Amino acid sequence: MARIVIEGAHVATLDPARREFVGHVVADGNRLVAVGPGPAPAYDDARVLDGRGCLVTPGFVNTHHHLYQWVTRGLAVDSTLFGWLTTLYPVWARITEESVYVAAQASLAQLALTGCTTAADHHYVFPRGGGDLLAAEITAAQEIGLRFHPARGSMDRGQKDGGLPPDSVVEDRDEILAATEAAIERWHDPSPDSMLQLVVAPCSPFSVSGELMRESAELARRHGVHLHTHLAETTDETEWCRATYGCTPLEYADQLGWTGPDVWFAHGIHFDDAEIKHLGSTRTGVAHCPSSNARLGAGIARTADLRAAGAPVGLGVDGTASNESGSLIEELRHALLFARARGGPQALTVRAALEMATLDGARILGRANDLGSLEPGKLADVAVWNLNTLPHAGLPDPVAALVLGSPPPLALLLANGRPVVEHDVLLTADEATLASAAARTQALLTADIR
Ligand code: ZN
Repeated sequence: MARIVIEGAHVATLDPARREFVGHVVADGNRLVAVGPGPAPAYDDARVLDGRGCLVTPGFVNTHHHLYQWVTRGLAVDSTLFGWLTTLYPVWARITEESVYVAAQASLAQLALTGCTTAADHHYVFPRGGGDLLAAEITAAQEIGLRFHPARGSMDRGQKDGGLPPDSVVEDRDEILAATEAAIERWHDPSPDSMLQLVVAPCSPFSVSGELMRESAELARRHGVHLHTHLAETTDETEWCRATYGCTPLEYADQLGWTGPDVWFAHGIHFDDAEIKHLGSTRTGVAHCPSSNARLGAGIARTADLRAAGAPVGLGVDGTASNESGSLIEELRHALLFARARGGPQALTVRAALEMATLDGARILGRANDLGSLEPGKLADVAVWNLNTLPHAGLPDPVAALVLGSPPPLALLLANGRPVVEHDVLLTADEATLASAAARTQALLTADIR
């Protein structure tokens, strides 16, 4: 892998001092070897990128997604979460290895094109006879070239047991635990340079039994992998938990061993003050998905309060069936705007939004030693945003231009030192081919519900 030198750019390091300067970033292989103000050291052999007018940030970390949903976008467009889910479950019951592969390629391509270098995915629909869906999305991630944290999801509480999903998409608890353990043994790479780390992720309180939640936590901790689930997304869920278990979703999760620095929840909208304090003191993370939450009218998480309490808050696009754009850069802007719409002008700064997309996401995935900031020795996951454009030129603060302005083009995206996007073009796959494959797959899957 070649040495790559980025010179003359505004660099937002996200290092412990949060330094910013006009300077250089140098990647040698998959690690950063120099980051500092002014010109780069001289190298005999390097590719040099003129970064004048560009902003360099760490590659973004996406902390919640459902890649397979790319081929079920734009359905139940005016529904609540539970209405949307009950429309989509029967469609999702038809997914196969092929459709998941096509959807994952498209979702990951869109993530790369919007600044993401590390993607977590929460896959929880495993229809009988669908093939090896986890292998399909892992292959797609390897091809697109992103660092990947697939979460082996699950549902074992179908309608016959008082759950929301139809019985055809739920699995047996012992099968789930065995398949999850086999996936960890087959795929999980705990090394600092890892491109692939597994996560254990039962879907949500209303689709999963308490036994599966508890045993999943035990399994994850035996293997030293992280835990993820949906929690406190809607008031319907809170009411369902109170009626079913006599407690809030977080109290329920806590009883089952689901808090701690190795746990993160998608959404986390409906927490009260005491719950936020508890999440902070246990360093439990939240994947904030502002576009999806707004699309489904679920509410908006108390991001400022969570961060002030000490809970890491990362950003997530969520599945593209509830966020049709699938763009990670848009989540920074929405996180900031919706936080201020909810909590006033001081609720979130532009730099806090950038921190959520980078360092906090890395903390949530347990990768903060190697990802989330631009420092010598860290992995070479780097986004170079071109601000020499009509919407951005003249904006005095490059970070504000990135967060508040229209999504800028990517001059370069490095994932593990490898160029994945250049001049806003994906280098690792052909976008038009991905688009037509996804459209064909969606037409086949959804022919009877349009
Ligand atoms: Zn989700």
